[in-house]
Amino acid sequence: MMLRAALLSVLFCSVNNYVIQDFLEKTEESSGNSIDDDDFSVSTLLEKANQNAGKVPGDPLVLYGDIAVPSGLQNADPCTQRGCLWPKASDGNVYVPYRIGSEFSRRERNTIVQGLRSFALSTCIRFTPLNRQQDFVDIRSLSGCFSFVGRRGRNQTVSLSRQGCVFHQIIQHELLHALGFDHEQTRSDRDQHVRILLQNVIRGMEFNFRIIQTNNLNTPYDYNSVMHYSRFAFTRNNQPTIIPIPDTNVAIGRATEMSPTDILRVNRLYRCRRRGMEG
Ligand SMILES: [Zn+2]
Repeated sequence: MMLRAALLSVLFCSVNNYVIQDFLEKTEESSGNSIDDDDFSVSTLLEKANQNAGKVPGDPLVLYGDIAVPSGLQNADPCTQRGCLWPKASDGNVYVPYRIGSEFSRRERNTIVQGLRSFALSTCIRFTPLNRQQDFVDIRSLSGCFSFVGRRGRNQTVSLSRQGCVFHQIIQHELLHALGFDHEQTRSDRDQHVRILLQNVIRGMEFNFRIIQTNNLNTPYDYNSVMHYSRFAFTRNNQPTIIPIPDTNVAIGRATEMSPTDILRVNRLYRCRRRGMEG
């Protein structure tokens, strides 16, 4: 099934990254909830960059917007089936080896490394250059932005296409997938916090809005999570697909970096124990 049929087109191949980053910073403060305000949300960036994700021979199958799934296991949550946390070292840190493909420019590579390092500032996750470890994240520029959920074993691809994915929030978003996190709007209690309007969703994309029996780690539902899609994600008619409840005016899915709750979740999932981390 070709999942990525008729998504919005153009823009990213032709626009300079820095123009976009600039625009991101400028629109961040916007308080409106119009579809234009969603232009540079995480989910819009993903939708635009992922038009061809998973269609290229050799790429993993990409479902749920930007989550890669092993063939044949499309309905299973790999994490619940076999445990997908990265192992904790005796010093309390969680070392996640990475390799960055040589296709990235020096500047892109720096942006990626900065994204990796951001985890060390607030969590016990330590992304470290690959040094003969067996399991690692293999950061490549394939057709779109996507990641598997959790540790898969051996080299697992995190794709950050040079066309539209090398942004701080996208890097954090995809690595949070690799650490084991799903999209916020699919979490188990989401119906208490958002209403999904399937009638406005692109036909065939409804599966992006399924509910997963997530472990929410006693953290509140977070509209500002970098894992939350925006109000118009996968819209087919410019009408909202996700509406926050009961206050429908709250901004959703507009994070430009991990929220405090995203950070808290990483620390709880991996039982990080450093000063002040559990608040
Ligand atoms: Zn995602």
